[in-house]
Amino acid sequence: MIPYGRQHITPDDEAAVLAALRSDFLTQGPRVAEFEEKFAAYVGAKHAVAVSNGTAALHLCALALGVRPGQRVITSPLTFAASANCVRYCGGEVHFVDIDPATGLLDLAATRALLETHARGHFSGLIPVDFAGLAVDMEATRALADEFGLWIIEDSCHAPGGFFVDSKGQQQLCGSGRFADLAIFSFHPVKHIATGEGGMITTSNEKLARHLRRLRTHGIEREPAGLLRQDEGGWYMEMQELGYNYRMPDVLCALGISQLSRADANLARRRELAARYDGAFAALPGVAILAPGRPGHAYHLYVIQVANRRGLYDFLRTKNILAQVHYVPVHRMPYYEKLGWRAGDFPAVEAYYERCLSLPLYPTLSDEEQAYVVRCVGEFEAQNTAVTA
Ligand SMILES: *Cc1c(COP(=O)(O)O)cnc(C)c1O
Repeated sequence: MIPYGRQHITPDDEAAVLAALRSDFLTQGPRVAEFEEKFAAYVGAKHAVAVSNGTAALHLCALALGVRPGQRVITSPLTFAASANCVRYCGGEVHFVDIDPATGLLDLAATRALLETHARGHFSGLIPVDFAGLAVDMEATRALADEFGLWIIEDSCHAPGGFFVDSKGQQQLCGSGRFADLAIFSFHPVKHIATGEGGMITTSNEKLARHLRRLRTHGIEREPAGLLRQDEGGWYMEMQELGYNYRMPDVLCALGISQLSRADANLARRRELAARYDGAFAALPGVAILAPGRPGHAYHLYVIQVANRRGLYDFLRTKNILAQVHYVPVHRMPYYEKLGWRAGDFPAVEAYYERCLSLPLYPTLSDEEQAYVVRCVGEFEAQNTAVTA
């Protein structure tokens, strides 16, 4: 089977994990801070806080930004459910805005239209998603957020190393913290950097970073400068608020550091494979792609859109190609429908969902395997066009 995504573990990764296992630290050790520093440097952020996974990262971000019952937060329906769920964990209300069908990203004009129909303060925050690896224009998003007094959590799980080009022609990396208050990443095996479970929050806001570090470990403060009462000795610590155990262990940070050292090479390979898909599908009129050729795409996913998606999915399975659908729109999940969202609420994302299919894309996908995938898609399209002609 050729899957849509997969991790790649090298002998160097194994050696890094083994060295960590043989050290004195299983959970919180020196590799946590090392991974944080290296990851922050990779995405151009001042601070990075490692946590147990991307969902925990979202939860802590929502807590640190003060989401509470009654608050309303806007996100895209084209994402993994966790981008919305983090608001629910804190008792807030999720509001969806449709996607721009040309990019798959949250439609900023529609977001503005929604914001303008309510008084300032009606909404508290925005959670845009760098869907498939295509970077959100965070400069424009920040400007809109500032106009309406919103915070921003950038869900960059699909886009480590991705960037958009700002109004001055500068490349702005996803998760740099220049525009969003907080950004989050996941190290789930299908993502760019795989540690099994793992996540990261990046920010340029030192106060938020400090708060997140406290929240990820039960709300406990140990730093003398952060204590509320007088230090009572070397053992002294204070639980100052309700936090969680969302720490990322030293052993997994060792794997993360090792994986991160190959991130640039892997991203280059993803882009090379994507460009080859682009070229092949340009010749197939029945196959559409999102935002072809846009610079800075990090290509977590390579998504095509076809009329007979179910047919193509099933056909590829008979060819041992396990494509995938990203995503069933979040507002169509039974849980969110119980909260009042309905089919028909967001026509662009619903139309997108009917046609989308993520093809195999990962750094170790060989040229031959990719050529086979392209051939199979072409074969199906030729049959299908013959039938409908
Ligand atoms: C993977 C993913 C998450 C959640 O990350 P986990 O590490 O699996 O918890 C959140 N948002 C998006 C867009 C993702 O792709």
